[in-house]
Amino acid sequence: METKPCLYCKEVFPPNKYAPRQKVCSRPECQKRRQLESMRVWREKNPSYFKYDESKGLAWLETQRKRSRIWRQKNPEKVRLYRQTHSTQYRQYMRDYMRRYRELKKGKNAPADPQSP
Ligand SMILES: [Zn+2]
Repeated sequence: METKPCLYCKEVFPPNKYAPRQKVCSRPECQKRRQLESMRVWREKNPSYFKYDESKGLAWLETQRKRSRIWRQKNPEKVRLYRQTHSTQYRQYMRDYMRRYRELKKGKNAPADPQSP
């Protein structure tokens, strides 16, 4: 069996026979790094999974919340009307969305889950 250098520490390691395509050695530092990396990749593939962009920070989120709260207070009629006309559509949309999401997760082309979410 051929050995190959670790993606991170460049040390040559024997690949696990159960995971022959493994690119990272078994050192805890490298495994941790691999886990973080796969989480980052997963997030990039699933941008809508998280409700807001963390890079913008909590201040940004708070501003958005405040803004929409003020808008709702100023436009109670619009909010009520919107809810009436959209609640059915929205529920249907969420059902479809969740079904697609579950199917995608089961399928072969599903993006890899992070090891620990
Ligand atoms: Zn390594």
